[in-house]
This record gives sequence, structure tokens and C-alpha cells, in this order.
Amino acid sequence: MTITARAAARLRAGHVWVYKSDISKVENAGPGTLVSVRDERGRGLGTALYSNSSQIAVRMISRDAVIADELRELIAGRVAAAIDYRKQVVRNSDAFRVVFSEADFLPGLIVDKYNDVLAVQVLTQAMDAPDLRDAVVAELVREFRPAGIIERVDARIRELEQLPPREAGQLHGDKSLTTFSMNGVRFHYEGLGGQKTGAFLDQRENYAAAERYAHGRALDVFTYQGGFALHLARVCDEVIGVDASREALEVAEQNAKLNDREMDWLEANAFDLLKDYSEAGEQYDTIILDPPAFAKSKRAAEGAVRGYKELNLRALKMLKPRGILVTCSCSHHVSEAEFQETITAAAADARRNVRILEKRVQAQDHPILAGVPETLYLKCFICEVR
Ligand code: SAH
Repeated sequence: MTITARAAARLRAGHVWVYKSDISKVENAGPGTLVSVRDERGRGLGTALYSNSSQIAVRMISRDAVIADELRELIAGRVAAAIDYRKQVVRNSDAFRVVFSEADFLPGLIVDKYNDVLAVQVLTQAMDAPDLRDAVVAELVREFRPAGIIERVDARIRELEQLPPREAGQLHGDKSLTTFSMNGVRFHYEGLGGQKTGAFLDQRENYAAAERYAHGRALDVFTYQGGFALHLARVCDEVIGVDASREALEVAEQNAKLNDREMDWLEANAFDLLKDYSEAGEQYDTIILDPPAFAKSKRAAEGAVRGYKELNLRALKMLKPRGILVTCSCSHHVSEAEFQETITAAAADARRNVRILEKRVQAQDHPILAGVPETLYLKCFICEVR
């Protein structure tokens, strides 16, 4: 496989993807096969997994030569290494991301652990090969002895990868329903069927950080199943969780019960609610803003910035002196610097002084790979508002 000079420079700088448009010569590589990658002068760049349908056609797996017979063992070894790393960095939680694709040198594979149930997701042609799937499951079973491993399926991704449709289902054991805990807060997990629960595991460390500053009357906007809200409930006098999704709030309420908490959940559009509340002069000591990724592409980033600014402006207006704003962006298209500028502009418009107490990112079980900017996607600023 020969790639353009531009793509070769990108790989040498530490990235691991080559786009379809940057391939100059394919040389009979089949879907999902191992390919050795060269620049136009014939110099080797390493070995990759190939997809003949994805825009990201090449995902590097090694700077060295790898032959097909070695692949299964290589993948199993990387799963083991990913697990070892989590043992180092995850504290006080039985739920975490076990494998995070490129960031664990396992492109196309995501594994999450919810106590005794594991959820596997396969995102590429290469990782869907039966022997690799088996190797992954065998390694997970050996390491965790889980009561169940389920497969989550993203139908759209399978279609893009031209993989045959698959149903979500059980890969090992028979358990798909469980409870798990993060920082000592308990949550329901339902891997298959009905209610579809789960968690934003990437916020795990930020929940604990937010709890260290939170106080008084708190509003958790975009609460989903109550992640921040349930942590805040341990230290605040009153917590209200807001979300547009009734189903999410129903699970949030079940999670509150699991923790013996009385909480208020409000089904509303966050933009409308913050506008109404701020115009009505409502006041809070702590506000969390954790909106969904507004910017799914670089082009959408401008609109996203407007959305972030409006939310932050409204929240800043409602915070009492020395109030705490925990504000997040999970779109990698909006950089940390752009996010900070947006908060600064909102602070100026709100005529408030904002001190950034902590600039945080995703939890450590979602590693950030130098050279692959896409792997740093979550920003979480903890601010004090004067
Ligand atoms: N803070 C959550 C994760 C939030 S995910 C946690 O830590 O678990 C984003 C949430 O925003 C989703 O639950 C989605 O239902 C909700 N959402 C999306 N658009 C919204 C809107 N305009 N108003 C209110 N909620 C919205």
C-alpha cells in the first residue's frame, strides 16, 4: 500500500490514520486485511489494518512488519496491556473503559466494563474477523471472569464499513443486567434490550472533582441518567437534574433510589429552561453544563460555539457570588483554547469575573494519544464565579 507524501508526513508525526483519498496505490488488499504501508519513495512506514469502504482506509497497528499469523497474538497482548494500564489508573470504581480503540493501539475496538458485565463494540472490518473477535473475548474472560459479555452494535457504522448487519447480543455468559459503582455512587446497567442504560464513563473523574467544589443549590443541566447530579447530592442541599429525554430521567430516578436519594428531575429543553430561569432571576450555587457534542464536524464547530456561549452566559448570570460552574465540551472539533475563549466571552457579556480553578479532560481510562488530536475530545473546566 503506497500513500501520498502528505499522509506519510502525518504518520511520521505520530498520527495513525490514512484517508482513502491519500492512498496512491492499493495493490490487492482485501477488506479488513493487514497491509504494509510505504511512502511514494518505497520507504516502509509500518503495518496497518485496511478498510476498503471507510473514509479512514488505513489504521496503523505497528511501525514494524507484522504478518497475518502474528495478528491474533498481537491483539490479545494489547488487550492485556490495556487492562494492566487500567489497573494503574482506575480508583474506587468497578466501571471503566477497558479498551479505547486507537488510544490503546487497538483501532476499531471499544470495550467497557460495568462491574461484572462487559460491553464490546467492533467498529472496523479488520476487528470483525472471527478469530480476532474470539481472541478479544478470550482475553477478557481470562482477565475478568465476567458474568456476561455483550456486543453493542452501531448499525450505521456496520453499514459504512460494509459489514453484514448483526444483532446486539450475548458473546459470553448470560448476564447483561447489573449495577455498578463509580466513586461509590451506584448506577443501573442494562446492556441489552429495554431501557438501554449505561454511562458516560469518561466523566468519572470529573464527577469526583465537581463534588469537591459543589455546594448549596445545584442544577445539573444535561444530566442524562444523573451522573453529576448523584455525586452532587452527597454534598449539596438541593440538586435538580435537567434533561430533554424522559427515558434518561426515568433511569436517573431509578439510580437515585439505588443510592437512597430524593432528587428532582426536570424534563426540559436546556436552552429554553436556562433562558426562563435566568430571566426569572433564579439563583444557584453550583451549575453543571454537560451538553452533547454539538459539533460533529469542523464545519459545525461555529454553531457549536454559539450554543456553548449561550448556555454558559445564562448559567453565569444565575450563579451566586463564589458560585461554581462546571462546564464541559465533548466535541474534539472545538479545541480547549476555543472553549476557553467562549467561556471568557460569556463571562464578559454576563459582567462576571470567572476564575478557572481546574482545566480537566476525560478520565484516564480514555487515554490521549500524542499525535492523534481526535483522542483528546472532552474538556471540563471548573470555574469559580465572582
Ligand atoms: N452529564 C451526563 C451526560 C450528558 S449526555 C452524564 O454525566 O452522564 C447529553 C444529554 O443531553 C443527553 O442525555 C441528552 O438527552 C441531553 N440533551 C440533548 N439536547 C438537549 C437539550 N436541548 N436540552 C436538554 N437536554 C438535552
